Amino acid sequence: MKKDTTLATVGRHPEAHSGTVNPPVYRASTILFPTLEAYENSERYSVRYGRHGTPGTLALEEAVSALEGADCCRLTPSGHSATTAAILSFAEAGDEVLVADCVYEPTRSFCADYLKRFGIAARFFDPLAGARIGELFGERTRLVVLESPGTRSFEVQDIPAIAAAAHGHGALVLADNTWATGYFCRPLELGADITVASATKYILGHADALLGTICVKDAHAARLKRGYRMLGLSVSPDDAFLALRGMRTLGVRLRRHEESGLALARWLKARPEVARVLHPGLAEDPGHALWKRDFSGASGTFGVVLKGGTKAQVAAFCDGLAYFGLGFSFGGYESLVTPSHLEKVRTATAWRPEGPVLRFSAGLEDPEDLIADLEAGFARFHAAA
Ligand SMILES: *Cc1c(COP(=O)(O)O)cnc(C)c1O
Repeated sequence: MKKDTTLATVGRHPEAHSGTVNPPVYRASTILFPTLEAYENSERYSVRYGRHGTPGTLALEEAVSALEGADCCRLTPSGHSATTAAILSFAEAGDEVLVADCVYEPTRSFCADYLKRFGIAARFFDPLAGARIGELFGERTRLVVLESPGTRSFEVQDIPAIAAAAHGHGALVLADNTWATGYFCRPLELGADITVASATKYILGHADALLGTICVKDAHAARLKRGYRMLGLSVSPDDAFLALRGMRTLGVRLRRHEESGLALARWLKARPEVARVLHPGLAEDPGHALWKRDFSGASGTFGVVLKGGTKAQVAAFCDGLAYFGLGFSFGGYESLVTPSHLEKVRTATAWRPEGPVLRFSAGLEDPEDLIADLEAGFARFHAAA
């Protein structure tokens, strides 16, 4: 079955829901058992108590597993809780975690500061290390955390080379797959052991709910299930419904996000104000060869490094935009611009942009309107000089 057909069919089970096309929202804490026999023999991972899942959340887990090429999926209340729960499920006291220098900032803070209280050490590394990461493994290294491409700086990581090195040292690889989703990249098939994603972004796609996903193959399912239960996680049935609904249109939305993102990236690349465009889908991007090998497409989120410009000029650019909202997140149907200040954040590698850095998330508006909006933004940028 091709992936668009999977997205249209997976997890539906109309026969179990009075023929309805979509699994309905089940609001449930208590699940009633007909007999003591059924109560005592209910299967651990079935519908037996609301926290452990209802038909709607199980349908979404089934769909996300199919998308990521996984055997087991767990849903968390946010993308960030997916990352933290996955790390806590797979690392323990005495372990060291290697973390790509380009990860999502809250992931960085969690690893750098919060893991200490569990006796877990973290070390950051150059996301472009590839097989050279082998030199960094120590006796205690048990987990490598990747985000490819980094969703602020857009470095593509060599997942197969990093996974080979990690496995050679008895360590596992966790990849944050938020940017590509399983539609454009399957880290589990490239050698990663665990994928996490913020479904808040492309899967939900409408900027109206938060949700995270953790996926593994069978070999690691028991550890994931145990960690998830121990941490007491569960998700809202309404948010799970919205996520499964979002998945039905994920393919068409991503193709449009990709097309518009590339159109904007190419237009920006030709602008005199722009020093560099950070988009692995562009042939001249340093990550393009790896992206081409490991991804089947690009989402609509990319970065731009300006040649220069004062804070007032950047404010003039951002404040007057008609279609690009100024805010965190990406992957919604509406376009966004998000300024980045990575020079204050990174530790393993220097980040010295030529000027201000902006991240754009191309939404589903007509790209001609988006380009006209950016053009007017640059006129304000110059007027504010
Ligand atoms: C947004 C994001 C997260 C966190 O997701 P939330 O749903 O906002 O908690 C994690 N990783 C990446 C790469 C993200 O972009």
